[in-house]
Parts: sequence; structure tokens; C-alpha cells
Amino acid sequence: MIIESNKVVSVNYKLTAKKDKTSEEAHIETADDSHPFVFLFGAGGLLEAFEKNLGGKKVGDGFDFYIDAANAYGLHDENHIVSIPVDAFHDDKGKFDSEHIQLGKIVPMMDNHGNRLQGLVKEITIQHVRMDFNHPLAGHELHFVGKVLEIRNATPDELSHGHVHGPGGHHH
Ligand SMILES: [Zn+2]
Repeated sequence: MIIESNKVVSVNYKLTAKKDKTSEEAHIETADDSHPFVFLFGAGGLLEAFEKNLGGKKVGDGFDFYIDAANAYGLHDENHIVSIPVDAFHDDKGKFDSEHIQLGKIVPMMDNHGNRLQGLVKEITIQHVRMDFNHPLAGHELHFVGKVLEIRNATPDELSHGHVHGPGGHHH
């Protein structure tokens, strides 16, 4: 059996990422044999380049590939760094929320359309808080190294739901 559409695939992997050619690869996450990454191949929702690199592989096959920023989480966009007036972070008593708004912290925010965003606090001044709303991995080249652990046919339920049930997947 090979990895193709409508198969449920388990892999282990180590993901590292780097911001430019000269910087070191930083560890992002690991999915090990006891907590593998389990997904329904071809169902969408994963990076296209990630699936493209795994398609056709068999159980026991290893992989080691890079995905450049444009095909991963996008390029870092200066327009996604914005200054927000400090009073947006005042509580009802007019006190600045210094507990959550700290340099280097990631703060859940909502835009004018009600979309949830994660903002990284870059700068705090008397007038404004500068936040970076780029994905934390924007501008990073990703490096995946791992092994295919299991491949099975998806059940009709999994196919109609578009996701994996059972271990590593949804329980409902
Ligand atoms: Zn389901």
C-alpha cells in the first residue's frame, strides 16, 4: 500500500525551521512514534508541499525535505505589523493590561471582521503597542525529517467527514 488519496497515514517527524540561509535551524516540533502525526491524505488542510513530498511512499520509507517560505506559511509581510493605540488595551477602569501585553508575548486578538489573530508584541510606548500579526513561521523555510509508520484505507465515515477517527484523530 502506498500513500495516496483516501489513505490514513501515520508518520513521525521532526520539524525545524530557519529564517534565512545563514541562520541556524530552530526546533519547532516533534511527532514521535508514541504520538505520531495521523492524517487523511488528500483531504486538504495540510500544506500542499508537505503532501506532495509524501505521496507514493510506503511504510518504513524515510523522508527528509525542505519547503520554502512561499509554499509554507508565506513570506513575512511588513504590512502585518501594526501600531494599535494603547487605550485598546485598557480595562474598564482605564488601566493598561500589563499582565498580558508584554514584549515578546503572543496575544490572541480579533480584527474588525471578527477573525481571530495572534499578535506578537514588538514594542510598547506611551501611545501605542506595535504588534506583528504574521504567522510565527512566516518567512521560514521548513525542514521535515521522519518516517512513514502506518498506511491504511480510510473508512467511509472518515471520507465523508474529511478527517481521521480513532487514535491520533477525532473522537466523536
Ligand atoms: Zn468525524
